[in-house]
Amino acid sequence: MNEKCEIVRDLLPMYIDDLTSKESNEFINRHLQSCPECTDYYNNLKEDIPEFNHNEKVPSENTEKTLIKKIRRRILLGASALTIFFLTTGIILGIFGDAIFQEGNPLPLVKSIIKLESTDADYVQFSEMPVKYISKSTIDREEMIKRFMEKKNWIYKEQMGNSYFFIKDGEEISVSTRQFTRKYFTWEVPADSTLER
Ligand SMILES: [Zn+2]
Repeated sequence: MNEKCEIVRDLLPMYIDDLTSKESNEFINRHLQSCPECTDYYNNLKEDIPEFNHNEKVPSENTEKTLIKKIRRRILLGASALTIFFLTTGIILGIFGDAIFQEGNPLPLVKSIIKLESTDADYVQFSEMPVKYISKSTIDREEMIKRFMEKKNWIYKEQMGNSYFFIKDGEEISVSTRQFTRKYFTWEVPADSTLER
């Protein structure tokens, strides 16, 4: 190894980091072209310094940042979905208490209550199977249920507890009511009784 080789090898780390002067670069390039040993040395050194390839380094850093951003966004989205879920549940519970979950999925019931409050309907159906309606506690429930059933030709017989009994063609059925919250009650009609005969 001659003196030139030594100088070049001393300069190579700086050269790789692009910190050498234009004159030094020319000197190093010229030497590398004529000296296979130093070219080998240079190639090895280049591989040992991962920062060397600036074009590769930048995207990999970006990829990492993008990934972190994506993960953060996913965590935030997940958190806000949970927040919305708990807020909604909290609001529903706050307004209606645990009673709302006694009738199964509370959403149809909440929708029915909104409809009940925003229209002058006496009742709103919130379940198809079994057939269930919701009404305000302020209504005369006996009167309303009688009218409802008589439209379907059921004749009122008697009331026992929370149930109203009706007869038609020797058949007897009952419509049962249940206090839902202080403001509302639900009532269930036997499915086939709602069919016109
Ligand atoms: Zn050399």
